[in-house]
Amino acid sequence: MPARLRVLAGDCRVTERGDRTRTHRGRVVVLIKPDNTTLVHDADGYQPVAWLTRPESVVVEGDGAGFTVTARDGSRRLRVVAEAATASRALPVTEAGIPVGTCPDDGGPLVRSRGDVVCLDCERRWGLPAGASVTDATCEACGSPKIRVERGEAFHLCSDPSCDPLEEAVSDRFDRVWDCPDCGTDLAVRYAPGRVYLACTAPDCETTLSVPSGVAVDECACGLPVFETATGRRCLDGTCPVGGGT
Ligand SMILES: [Zn+2]
Ligand SMILES: [Zn+2]
Ligand SMILES: [Zn+2]
Ligand SMILES: [Zn+2]
Repeated sequence: MPARLRVLAGDCRVTERGDRTRTHRGRVVVLIKPDNTTLVHDADGYQPVAWLTRPESVVVEGDGAGFTVTARDGSRRLRVVAEAATASRALPVTEAGIPVGTCPDDGGPLVRSRGDVVCLDCERRWGLPAGASVTDATCEACGSPKIRVERGEAFHLCSDPSCDPLEEAVSDRFDRVWDCPDCGTDLAVRYAPGRVYLACTAPDCETTLSVPSGVAVDECACGLPVFETATGRRCLDGTCPVGGGT
């Protein structure tokens, strides 16, 4: 059940009360978003005549002919009164994101929004690893779009983490490949929500290193790999005094 955007229109008296009180009169459109954000638009430009962003409350009253909208946020108030309404609708709305494919469950559009993949129909949502890009390829197992994500090398995985977990791919490739910079014991691939990291396997060593988003391109003088990341070259050990060179 998608959220609803309320759209009301009419010849309205718009009163804002806050630091100062202002009144407008005109044929305007009032939009009330699912998060209560209330916008009053007139004929001109993109900017609302009056608005309150995510107010604490919005009350809409109507008598069939006209309507009154009262939005309150602390001491601020926005009130819109129409004697005669020309429109009063509630329309389904979703967040908007970059199209990335088709939902394998219901064929609905999938978009990428705020680091997640969301189906606009069933609203199923899953998170993407940091730095991942969605590709044109489709997962053969489940039909979801695939992603490219760099953790030491480029992995091409299903975007649905329950189908093709990043931590398994990184573990298959890099578990116990590198040695702890503090004691020389094997580094194991471990996983915490939203993060793949390396942990020393020696019982008395607590060294952990996060695996940066990037590809290993060289070997540091300390023996660990040098990563090419979006912000430049660095040693896998972020505190390595030798560092990633140039
Ligand atoms: Zn769906
Ligand atoms: Zn899949
Ligand atoms: Zn260690
Ligand atoms: Zn190093």
